[in-house]
Amino acid sequence: MKLIMMGPSGAGKGTHSEILSRKFSIPIVSTGNILREAVKNDTPIGLEARSYMEAGQLVPDDIIIGIVAERLAAPDCANGYILDGVPRTIAQAEAIEAAGIFFDAVLAFDVPDEIILERITGRRTCTKCGRSFHVTANPPKLEGICDGCGGELILRSDDSIDTVKKRLEVFYARTSPLGKFYDDRGVLKKISNQPTIEATSKIVMEALGI
Ligand code: ADP
Repeated sequence: MKLIMMGPSGAGKGTHSEILSRKFSIPIVSTGNILREAVKNDTPIGLEARSYMEAGQLVPDDIIIGIVAERLAAPDCANGYILDGVPRTIAQAEAIEAAGIFFDAVLAFDVPDEIILERITGRRTCTKCGRSFHVTANPPKLEGICDGCGGELILRSDDSIDTVKKRLEVFYARTSPLGKFYDDRGVLKKISNQPTIEATSKIVMEALGI
């Protein structure tokens, strides 16, 4: 199964990627997590990406396309994967398609901006594995500690109100047009916002015909 998770920051892409990854035993490919790791390790890609990320801007397409091509060629991607946060531009989507990659479904999470702002300020992200939690909606078992790997949970430096507003603006301008791109290919599934993670998960499974 090959899936794309699409939607603004804090729409639930990461949370539902985790659920689907466990259910289908397929990896999550999150460009945000790959880039944060590169920034943490001061790699050449990290050094180039940092300023874009901190400003809530998109990292240039050529960097992203390179990262994705390399990651999808890894052996654990042979049976499928979940792309979280990529593609984010038409150029990225075209490059992936030009590489002969097609998707079973593109889940487009639709969440109002005011809910997003509330969610992001309560989001806590693992510095080690990238998994995200929410202080009230999805708290970790032990405060400040990742349930999955025991890593430290922090508020991401780009999860401030101002940067999130910028990221939302960029999403509507650059990423929303991908809805039509994938609808034209017959794979777009709209996921409307639900009050709980469980209710959203039910809609996701229905959309996937499970
Ligand atoms: P979000 O929490 O907004 O879903 P991510 O963790 O997916 O954010 O990404 C964080 C930042 O990394 C983005 O604001 C952007 O700067 C950069 N980034 C991640 N994926 C991409 C991509 N596909 N194209 C361009 N930039 C990206």
